[in-house]
Amino acid sequence: MSERRDTDDASQAGDGEAATAADEPTVPMTHPDDGIRSGTAVEGGVRVEERIDGQDGEDAKGRPAADGSGESRLRRQAGIALVLLGLVIVAVAGFTTPWRVLASGPPDPARDFTAAQIARAQAFDAATSLPSYLSLGLTIIFAGLLVATPFGAKVLGRLKGPWWVRVMLGVVVITAIVEAVRWPLGIWFETILRDYGLSIQDWGSWTGDRLKNLGVEAFLLAVMLLALVALARKVRRWWIPAAIGAFVLTVATSFIYPVVFEPLFNDFTTMRQGPLRTNLLAMAERDGVPVEDVLVADASRRTTALNAYVSGFGATRRIVVYDTLLKAPQQEVELVVAHELGHAKDNDVLYGTLVGALGAAFGAIALFVVFGAVRRRTGVTSITDPRAVGAVMGLMTFGSLLLGPAQNLISRNIEARADLHALDLTRDPATFVAMQKRLAVTNISDLSPDEVEYVLYASHPSSPERIAMARSWAKLNGVPEP
Ligand SMILES: [Zn+2]
Repeated sequence: MSERRDTDDASQAGDGEAATAADEPTVPMTHPDDGIRSGTAVEGGVRVEERIDGQDGEDAKGRPAADGSGESRLRRQAGIALVLLGLVIVAVAGFTTPWRVLASGPPDPARDFTAAQIARAQAFDAATSLPSYLSLGLTIIFAGLLVATPFGAKVLGRLKGPWWVRVMLGVVVITAIVEAVRWPLGIWFETILRDYGLSIQDWGSWTGDRLKNLGVEAFLLAVMLLALVALARKVRRWWIPAAIGAFVLTVATSFIYPVVFEPLFNDFTTMRQGPLRTNLLAMAERDGVPVEDVLVADASRRTTALNAYVSGFGATRRIVVYDTLLKAPQQEVELVVAHELGHAKDNDVLYGTLVGALGAAFGAIALFVVFGAVRRRTGVTSITDPRAVGAVMGLMTFGSLLLGPAQNLISRNIEARADLHALDLTRDPATFVAMQKRLAVTNISDLSPDEVEYVLYASHPSSPERIAMARSWAKLNGVPEP
């Protein structure tokens, strides 16, 4: 339920910056989700029976052994694990992120873009900022309600049935409430996209996309929460299997995403035989990246934006270009794909997935640590109480909002490395600059994002920054500066 800004390309390694809302969460990677995994870890003698009173399955009063001292000892243990895992994540991210890719001069939009182009980008940014920030504000307010008041428990208290039915229904109900509130903002945003010619969807297909997105989101969330509650009902130190499960589930989701979920939104076809395909595959071969195919997504039925991305890893890895991109000159398409090959060669998706999975494990432990405080405020009895679903969803929203800026910071550096790879591979900074201009103008990218936007939403360096880097590369390599 956390809202990324609709213009943001949330795909794993998507690159055109702007994309329509339909392109939103391609891989729900760093949601602090909670896991699967059965409760095999029988904990130090404190084995809690299923505590069902009456046919309604409400947890009576939390755990029998949940007296103050025992519980705080458990929480202390989890807290230590949380700090240690946090340090591991910071160390892994710190050492594997390419912090200094290539020193380049300051970005200078006026050098490459006309006054009219700059004005149009500013106007688009101004128009979309309001619904974006309103959506963010509503998301925060709603998550706050779920975490700090009995609102969620009251709503979900009306649901009937066994615990697992109520957990699933709880996810659906909370998702539906959030979406009902945000729906008008989505319509507003889509209207702006259409005004600017970025979206060419009709309302039927827009609604279909949005509902499919929500369905996928709610489905994944329900799987996580069912597993979490099942664990917590059996194991007292449920944070241990939950952390392992969150890790496994995140990796598995990222792996299957391209083959299970992406086809819900787009049709993918093999790139047509011809000189472009031949050149791209030859370039991949020269690069030492085994690529059997470049897939084309039928993005043009909803957007005019240009994009390409890599998703999956191992057997599911794929390089996808939007069909909208194929109208660009062939050399520019080659440069886009050269960038994607950089992601493939550096295993950016796998790396991002592993860091995200560690983040998910962290989230599972954090949930254990903070849930005591949340429980008191929300009036739920324990995490096994199906009415707690709202509070958990609220916490996950805050988790992903807090992690977003860190995720973007890492992503921008990884994107810069992929740009450098494209330049090294093609040795063609002039086409690189031409391609960046085309992407920025077509997608109406923000040419000089302010600090807040940059921190909150920018998964890529800005186009002027990317162009500045290409010029530095040219200078460094004795190639005429474009
Ligand atoms: Zn990229």
